Amino acid sequence: MLNKKNIIILGIFLALSLFLVVWYFASPSEEVRKFSNKINQYQPEILTKEREDLLLEFDNFAFDHFPILDDDCPLFVYSYLFSDLHKFYKLRFDKLYNEIKNAQVPDRQIKFWYVYNMGMVAKTKNLTIGFDLANKWINFGIPKLADQLDILIISHPHGDHYDSSLVKRALNRGVAVVLPSGKIKKEWRKPIRSDPKGKELKEIFGNSKNLISMGEDETKMVKQAKITAFAAEHGKGGRGGEFPVPTRWFLVEVDGFTILHTDDAGLIGSDGGEAFEKIPQDIDIFLMDIRSYPDRLREVRLLKPRIVIPLHHWEIFHGKPKTIEEGDFRKILSFKDEVHQQIPTSKVIPLIWGESISLELEN
Ligand SMILES: [Zn+2]
Ligand SMILES: [Zn+2]
Repeated sequence: MLNKKNIIILGIFLALSLFLVVWYFASPSEEVRKFSNKINQYQPEILTKEREDLLLEFDNFAFDHFPILDDDCPLFVYSYLFSDLHKFYKLRFDKLYNEIKNAQVPDRQIKFWYVYNMGMVAKTKNLTIGFDLANKWINFGIPKLADQLDILIISHPHGDHYDSSLVKRALNRGVAVVLPSGKIKKEWRKPIRSDPKGKELKEIFGNSKNLISMGEDETKMVKQAKITAFAAEHGKGGRGGEFPVPTRWFLVEVDGFTILHTDDAGLIGSDGGEAFEKIPQDIDIFLMDIRSYPDRLREVRLLKPRIVIPLHHWEIFHGKPKTIEEGDFRKILSFKDEVHQQIPTSKVIPLIWGESISLELEN
């Protein structure tokens, strides 16, 4: 008999069961915790044989715990949310978020954290700068990174390089959001229906006064950082290529350090190498897309940066086969070997989600 009392008991029972199911799926297994703790024992800048083995172990771990459904299945995101890879990512993210929040970076130092895909956060004594922070689906905490930033740089408006909730939160908090100028006719493969001629990116992001559009080869002072945007092209077949969106390489000079972020694109005019003449020869950190290897080897040879961080690897939302084909640590380690043989003054530092490196000014 379903009287009022029985309905209440049934309700409590269902709520409790639901809680247990959610708790079971959300809490990381012993294996996940152990592996994350193991990673915490390593300093990424010390590239020993054990460190290389750890990176290859990550490849196997991510491969084994990949979401079971394929990325063309509409339930892919759900299968990711219940996967061990998501629980692992969450552990890594919580660690990096607390570190960014609490880090006191001394004068003449910079600290970098690897977030996801091409997403990085750089912190000096005076400024915290985010690059291409994307995809809240990887972890729902991603948008709160906005609370720690002074500047957010978006290389181009593809879903794996920005997150609308994070951008909105950043703009509301007075973060300077730097992005390429230029019209966009498609939003991630979907045409913008309201305006077939396209819309200025700034308009799409709501025309806030905190948005800073950067033209090709333009330099601006943003807070205490000097930012230059270099003309780039995404994909093959001319400017915009197969993914026609405005895109830039961003050079950031902050507190004596020089950072260059390459986004998904190649520099316009890079075939003849003349595009590189505009770029200073004292890059401290080159944040690059590993998928363009071996092309990028030539770029590293031309620019001879102090540190090279290969990015755009293990991007889960491309599905398993493509993710592995585009970039895993096996590929990054062979790139690293080539760079170290050919350009001994440049050091390649591969990073796992949530890891960080610190750098001191040279003189
Ligand atoms: Zn892209
Ligand atoms: Zn991308």
